[in-house]
Amino acid sequence: MKNNILESINYDLSLELLNMNLLDDQQIQDSLKNANEEKKIINEYLVSQKIVNEEQSSQILANYLGYEYYNIDVINIDEKLIKNLTYEFITKYKFIPLIFDELNKRYIIATSNPLDFDAINIAYAIFGINAQIVVCTDAKLVRIKSRIFAQNDIKQTIDEYNKQERDIDSINIVGIDDADLVNSPAVKLVESCLNDAISVGASDIHIEPYEDIVRIRYRIDGMLYENTSFSTKMYPAVSTRIKIISKLNIAERRVPQDGRITKTYNNETYDFRVSTLPTTFGEKIVIRIFDTKAFSYDRSQLGFLKEENMIVNELLKKPYGIILLTGPTGCGKSTTLYSFIKEINNGEVNIVTVEDPVEYTISGVNQVQVNTKANLTFANALRSILRQDPNIVMIGEIRDEETAEIAMRMAITGHLVLSTLHTNDAAGAVTRLIDLGLQPYFVTDALVGVISQRLVRRLCPECKQSYMSNKYENEILKINKSQKLYKSVGCPACHNTGYKGRIGVHEILQMTEDLKELVINKASTSQIKQKAMDNGMLDLYTTCKIAVLKGETTVQELLSIMYNK
Ligand SMILES: [Zn+2]
Repeated sequence: MKNNILESINYDLSLELLNMNLLDDQQIQDSLKNANEEKKIINEYLVSQKIVNEEQSSQILANYLGYEYYNIDVINIDEKLIKNLTYEFITKYKFIPLIFDELNKRYIIATSNPLDFDAINIAYAIFGINAQIVVCTDAKLVRIKSRIFAQNDIKQTIDEYNKQERDIDSINIVGIDDADLVNSPAVKLVESCLNDAISVGASDIHIEPYEDIVRIRYRIDGMLYENTSFSTKMYPAVSTRIKIISKLNIAERRVPQDGRITKTYNNETYDFRVSTLPTTFGEKIVIRIFDTKAFSYDRSQLGFLKEENMIVNELLKKPYGIILLTGPTGCGKSTTLYSFIKEINNGEVNIVTVEDPVEYTISGVNQVQVNTKANLTFANALRSILRQDPNIVMIGEIRDEETAEIAMRMAITGHLVLSTLHTNDAAGAVTRLIDLGLQPYFVTDALVGVISQRLVRRLCPECKQSYMSNKYENEILKINKSQKLYKSVGCPACHNTGYKGRIGVHEILQMTEDLKELVINKASTSQIKQKAMDNGMLDLYTTCKIAVLKGETTVQELLSIMYNK
C-alpha cells in the first residue's frame, strides 16, 4: 500500500476509533503517529500493542467500510460452500462463504481482510455482485478453515482406503502391513488427524482398536468425544506410521512405548507425546498435544477470586518455605504452577525446575527433565540442584518420602519451593506429608500454604440459557429461594457441547500458628480443614458455588467436583 493511501486510511480509522470510545484523544494521536511510522494499519498496530483485541479491530474495520461484523463461531456454516474452494485459495484471499441467504438470494461471505480490495473483487466475481460481505477476525477464519479441511481430509482418506481395500480384496491379497508408501492413506490419515485435533482445540487423541473397527476420539475441555472410526485392516499401517514419526520401535507390539512428534501447523509449533499400550485387539495409542509456544497463561486467567489472589500474592512473596498445589490428575495443577513460576521469574532470582515431563519451556528458567533410565530421579536431581545456588525450586510432583524430605529441607534452608501433591483437598496435603513419614514439626516449619484446585467446564457464553433454580438445586446450593442460574444448550461455537473452555476453582489453606499447633498434635484432616475454614478459608464447594451463581458454570459441574475425587 502506498504511504499516502495508508496514512489517509489510518486517519479515517482513527476517527472511527474516536467514535467507538475505545481510546482517548491522546492515545489515538500517538497510535496514529506510531502506526504511520511503522507503515502499519492503525488497527494492526493497536492489536500488536495489545491496546485493542482482534475482535475490536475487526469491528473498527467493518464500521469504517460499512460492512457488518460477524462472530462466525456461532453460525451454522454450510461446509459444502467452503469445500468448493481450496485450502490454499482461502489462505491467500482470506475469505470464506458462510451460507446462502435464501430470503435475499445471496451468499454471505466473511473476510478477515476487508482492505484487500482485489480479494473482495474476486469474491464478488465468484459469488455474484449480490453477495454480502461481512467482516470476521483472522483467528476465527483460520480455525474454521483448518477444521473443515482437516475433517474433510480424514473422511476422504478413509473412503479412499475402503475403495482400495475392495480392489485389493478382489485380487486376493490380504492386509497391508507396510506403511512405507508415501501418500498412502495411512500417512494422510495420521497427518489430517493431527491437524484436525489441533484445530478443534483437543488436548489428546485416543486411537483405540476394537474387534471390527478402530475408533478415534478427542479430549476437549476434559471430555472425550468420538471423532471417527475406520476399518481394523487399515490399523497396522496407521499405527506403524505413528510409530515411525514418533521414533518408536515399529516391530515391538507387546510392550508399552513412549515417543514424541514435533510438528508445525498454521505457523505454530506443536509437541505431541505418543504413548502405546498393548490391548486385546492391538495397540491403543494416545497422543497428547502440547502447544509449545511460550507458556501463555497469566494468573488472572486461572479463576482465582479477588480475595484468593491477595492470599496468593502473599504466598509468592515469601522468601522461603514450600507452597503445594493439590488435586487429582488433569486438574490443571501444572498450569497454575507454571503461571506462578512465570510471575516470579523476574531475572533477579535463580529458578530451577525438576519435571517429568517438562511440559512447557519458560525462558530464563533452568528446567531439568527427570530421566529414571539414567538414574536422574527427582531426588537425585534435587541434590545436584542444591549445589547450583537456586532461590526458587519447582518440583513437578512429590511422590515419595525421599523427595518430600528433600523438598522440606530446601524449604527450611532458605529456598522457596513449589510443588504438587496428589490429594483431594488442601488439608489432606498436610496429613499426606506426615503419612509419607515426615515429622509433623518439620512439615509445619516448611509449609507456608496449600492450594487445592479443580477445573470445571465453563458455560459457552454464546448459547447458555438462564432459568430459575428448582428445589433440589436450592438444596445443593444451600439457598432459601430460587435464583437465576444458567444451563448449557449447545451451538456451533462450542461444537454443540454447551461448554467452552474450563475455569479453575480453588481452596487455599494458609499455615497459621493455630493450624501448626493442630498439626503437631496430629489432628485429623477434617479437624485441620475445619480450623482453616474458621480462619476464613473458602473451600472448593464454596468457590465452585460462587462460579455457579455467577452463571459461569452449572450445578452439574459443581456436583461432579464434589463426587469425583
Ligand atoms: Zn455454544
